[in-house]
Amino acid sequence: MSAVNPSGWRPKQGAAAPGQPSETASGDRGLSLEEPLIFELAAPGDFGAKCGVDFDEPDTDPSPSLARFLRKAPPALPGLTEPETVRHYTRLSRQNYAIDLGPFPLGSCTMKHNPRLNEKMARLPGFADIHPLQPHATVRGAYEAMAQLADWLTRLTGMATVALTPKAGAHGELCGLLCIRAAQVAKGDARSVVLVPESAHGTNPATAAFAGYRVENIPATADGRVDLAALKARLGPDVAGVMITNPNTCGLFEREMKAISDAVHAAGGYVYCDGANFNAIVGKVRPGDLGIDAMHINLHKTFSTPHGGGGPGSGPVVLSAALAPFAPLPFVTRQADGSVRLIEEADAPADHPQTFGRMCAFHGQMGMYTRALTYILSHGADGLRQVAEDAVLNANYVLRSLDDVLDAPFAASGPCMHEALFSDAGLAEGFTTLDIAKGLIDEGFHPMTVYFPLVVHGAMLVEPTETESKAGLDRFIASMRSLAARAKTGDELLKSAPHFAPRRRLDETQAARRPVLAWRGDVAASD
Ligand SMILES: *Cc1c(COP(=O)(O)O)cnc(C)c1O
Repeated sequence: MSAVNPSGWRPKQGAAAPGQPSETASGDRGLSLEEPLIFELAAPGDFGAKCGVDFDEPDTDPSPSLARFLRKAPPALPGLTEPETVRHYTRLSRQNYAIDLGPFPLGSCTMKHNPRLNEKMARLPGFADIHPLQPHATVRGAYEAMAQLADWLTRLTGMATVALTPKAGAHGELCGLLCIRAAQVAKGDARSVVLVPESAHGTNPATAAFAGYRVENIPATADGRVDLAALKARLGPDVAGVMITNPNTCGLFEREMKAISDAVHAAGGYVYCDGANFNAIVGKVRPGDLGIDAMHINLHKTFSTPHGGGGPGSGPVVLSAALAPFAPLPFVTRQADGSVRLIEEADAPADHPQTFGRMCAFHGQMGMYTRALTYILSHGADGLRQVAEDAVLNANYVLRSLDDVLDAPFAASGPCMHEALFSDAGLAEGFTTLDIAKGLIDEGFHPMTVYFPLVVHGAMLVEPTETESKAGLDRFIASMRSLAARAKTGDELLKSAPHFAPRRRLDETQAARRPVLAWRGDVAASD
């Protein structure tokens, strides 16, 4: 493999030398740039001596009402020329890892390529330059796009309706639970407990608690799935419902989903499905057929709209016929003559009397709807089925290419879905999952998801998605094999990786608990 590398570093043949990236490292060493703060490039006092823009002195006095806002001293800005400023920010941008630079093997988060066609469509002025308070007659195309997206989402999931407005997956979870609460209150049967499996994404228990429910855990079986017997044993008149991720966060399909739904329904509860992993089953399985009552779809995962730093997200919630009457406002609905109508607050008493309210002020993320609809239309139903098949194929390729060098806890029980799960079992004494994750940075890859799901010790969760090529997967696999070998033979240099990033290992607890986000001149950062 020839690695073209602008910095002149040449890969070695065979296993990596200690502390060196493997021969398959992506060569992306742009991260090794060091960049001072802009205030360190030029102290604030320099402002005026050197400045990117020249403003004329105003020749009229400001009106008396504005005069009190006049600056009494120049702003404390660094004095830099325009090229110095542009280069500073461009160098900073090169310290960012992005999906456009290399793969993001994060499990659960589904970071896939964002097709440029989606961006082009989202920027059409008829979608991008409209305002939610514009007269309806002037935005019919946008409503039509929303209605088409809604048609696709309900058809792909086999559900009665969809609430498009939630702004992300977790917001969709809240929307689903508020529908469940409204449905139970309408029956005079308000309930207090939501059951969540051990392997759930952290947002599930957080959402249930936020919505005012008491959260109780359901254990997992040895093969990484929900323990149906334990679930059945806990069901009762206080249980509002369950929140189950399917495929689950161990990368496994919950085969007993229908039995779970039937048991929950028989006990008067509802089934919330966390649909963040829908890309593994889209076009193959319809959640509505599994008895699910509410499920969010992360448009920014399954349907390729940007997320992470590139957001915003969008988390439409598909709803069963039982929950549809409680869906939030506003929404678009297709009428008998094919035209699209927007149902808003004023219409609701007549047309949608049981709505629980709103998730947000307006119609949700139009840009995400346009991108997701573009992705859907450019694939079609067959193409979407292939998305799921390729995502699952890629994950199994990663799983089977690494399960001889890394422990793969559920690999013996069959293929995985869209993500491959490994553990730290078998690494040399003192070596951990974190060492492999940090080593991946030196290899030029974003680390995988680590220490999640919690049910697996030292978990490493890898989701390649369908948008990585086989050649790209082979490079990632070779880097992982090299790292696994180093972690098993006790290569001490791996313990201080990354060596080719601007920083070594950070104090992640302090970084999360006491982030220092502002430059404060000569005030010590710790004050
Ligand atoms: C990403 C994710 C969520 C949360 O979605 P957001 O859009 O980030 O709020 C919930 N559950 C699972 C399994 C996820 O992967």
